[in-house]
Amino acid sequence: MVTTDWKKDLRERGYRLTPQRQLVLEAVDTLEHATPDDILTEVRRTASGVNISTVYRTLELLEELGLVSHAHLGHGAPTYHLADRHHHMHLVCRDCGSVIEADVSVAQPLIDGLRQQFGFDTDMKHFAIFGRCADCAGSAAGG
Ligand SMILES: [Zn+2]
Ligand SMILES: [Zn+2]
Ligand SMILES: [Zn+2]
Repeated sequence: MVTTDWKKDLRERGYRLTPQRQLVLEAVDTLEHATPDDILTEVRRTASGVNISTVYRTLELLEELGLVSHAHLGHGAPTYHLADRHHHMHLVCRDCGSVIEADVSVAQPLIDGLRQQFGFDTDMKHFAIFGRCADCAGSAAGG
């Protein structure tokens, strides 16, 4: 849900939640893992005059303001989340393309190990991990 808190939040930082910005936020909220193209399609259902560069500019601004964040699920364009809902890693199945959301705590041993050995602060959310989902791995093993 797009709440009025965001309007207040933006206003306090000197930005207005223009209708276009609100539509982009709502599209990110509704679609989940949406690319800028997906977001454009959704926004155009209400505002047909919006173009892709407006969507990119708006996403950039909203990301700067900490309202949305992006993740890379493959070779194409990044996909967008509401920032406060993005606390997971993405497991992408190479075979069927399904995306599983896994809590970052699953990777805690790796995160701890990298910090201990390299002093490295790992962001597990930014890029997806590729493999095979249980269904696809199962059917491959079975036949
Ligand atoms: Zn996600
Ligand atoms: Zn990125
Ligand atoms: Zn699969």
